[in-house]
Amino acid sequence: MRVERYNHPAQFGSDPAPLFDEIREMILYGKTILTEQVSRFENAFADYLGTAHVVGVNSGTDALVIALRALEIGAGDEVITQANTFNATVAAIRLVGATPVLVDAEEPSFQMDLQQVESVISSATRAIIPVHLYGKAAPMMRVLSIANRFGLAVIEDAAQAHGARISGRAAGTFGEIGCFSFHPSKNLAAAGDAGAIVTDSDVLAHKIRRLRELGQSEQNNHVTLGLNSKLDAIQARILSWKLPYLDEWNRARRRVADQYRERLRDLPITFQAVTSGEEHVYHLFQIRTERRDEILGHLKQSGVDAVIRYPTPIHLQPAFADCGWMPGEFPVAEELARTLLCLPIRPDLSTDELDYVCDTIRQFFTKRAAVPVLRYVS
Ligand SMILES: *Cc1c(COP(=O)(O)O)cnc(C)c1O
Repeated sequence: MRVERYNHPAQFGSDPAPLFDEIREMILYGKTILTEQVSRFENAFADYLGTAHVVGVNSGTDALVIALRALEIGAGDEVITQANTFNATVAAIRLVGATPVLVDAEEPSFQMDLQQVESVISSATRAIIPVHLYGKAAPMMRVLSIANRFGLAVIEDAAQAHGARISGRAAGTFGEIGCFSFHPSKNLAAAGDAGAIVTDSDVLAHKIRRLRELGQSEQNNHVTLGLNSKLDAIQARILSWKLPYLDEWNRARRRVADQYRERLRDLPITFQAVTSGEEHVYHLFQIRTERRDEILGHLKQSGVDAVIRYPTPIHLQPAFADCGWMPGEFPVAEELARTLLCLPIRPDLSTDELDYVCDTIRQFFTKRAAVPVLRYVS
């Protein structure tokens, strides 16, 4: 049996033909830049999240870069984020010329350590970027209270958390700006790169719209230095097609996660903590175990598409070598990178597939003698 991490056809429903007919027309008649498809999706996603403005851009990475630019954060400014995130969060800070300041993760939530955030705030700090990692909303009330106390902006990296909520309020709508990715791996997936920026501020939304279109105020009048980073109209059409299913898919992901938690709980495995009042959307389902690399080998051999997210924490990535971070500086992030393993999670994961993954893991712990640790990634 094979258990895959993605089932892209399933996301289009039983009859995608009308969608593909529309896309065919768009391509044939050159209706692929902005058009009403982009504003339609922006409005639908804004309604879904409960926010005033959504601006579609090229990718989640561009969303972060443009968010920082809209807040006029650049050289000489410091931005605080966490050592256990995807590369793009920190790359965006560097790409605008600002200085990333990292804090460690907190156990057992895997979220940014807020005590450390307070201790690294300096006169140069301009913003905090909490990451809603793996689909679990960051502790936004506490983040906002620190940000307000120190006069900092909050940019949420919501690339993994479409529809995650705290007490009913959507991740991405707490700070000045929220950034989403619709990379094909995400809970709401385009058919290529795509992203969006979310804000309640009319002023920021205006600046963000200008920044995604080469700083134009109207055609051929470029009032500021911008990027060319517009959400592709074909991607927007696909996203509008899928958005109505997102809540149902997130509920199905939670059901799969609950099953995993229930069925693996007597094994030497732990899970990301969840608290009441939060809606985790399980972009990734992580198990944490000392024997991670052996289990990964066993699962892969058995046809289960398990994967490590992320094997190397930010401070040990070669791309950031010039930031001067040292091994051991963020011990929890290093520990998570060493012990976390993602099991396949999809809204359509069948009971048979779930049984097979759980049985394969159980078999590893009960039937197999210990084998030497295989390091897939260091
Ligand atoms: C996917 C992701 C991004 C970047 O999004 P892209 O659309 O791939 O550029 C940023 N941050 C996090 C946490 C992500 O998971």
